[in-house]
Amino acid sequence: MSGFFENLGATLGNGARNVVDKTKDVAGVASIKAQISTAQAGLGKLYKELGKAYFEEHSDSDEYGPLMEPIRDALKKITELEEKLADAQGTTKCPSCGAQVPKDSQFCPTCGVPIDIAKAAADAEDDSSKEIPIE
Ligand SMILES: [Zn+2]
Repeated sequence: MSGFFENLGATLGNGARNVVDKTKDVAGVASIKAQISTAQAGLGKLYKELGKAYFEEHSDSDEYGPLMEPIRDALKKITELEEKLADAQGTTKCPSCGAQVPKDSQFCPTCGVPIDIAKAAADAEDDSSKEIPIE
């Protein structure tokens, strides 16, 4: 009779242990998956930074032509769209930091550079380059 209860106890114990192990597995699997995702996201960011650093160093290189050319195209497209956006919004590009600034602003709200002076200087440069005769 005592054997029956010992066996029953052992059976119940095993059952409870299996439930605990499975719960632990599910939590462990989720945790490991989360850690893998975090590591992959970090790796993706590092690859992106490396790619950008490489591109900036070798933007004229054809070594990775199939990857470099679309980046050059995308940058050109972004510049064109930014100019279009500036026109549509009635803004101008800060000559110092590149932020979009309302055309009537006196200072860039991002970097604080005086817009009119910076613009005038840029205009003056353009004018002088036209006016100075080639010697
Ligand atoms: Zn600025």
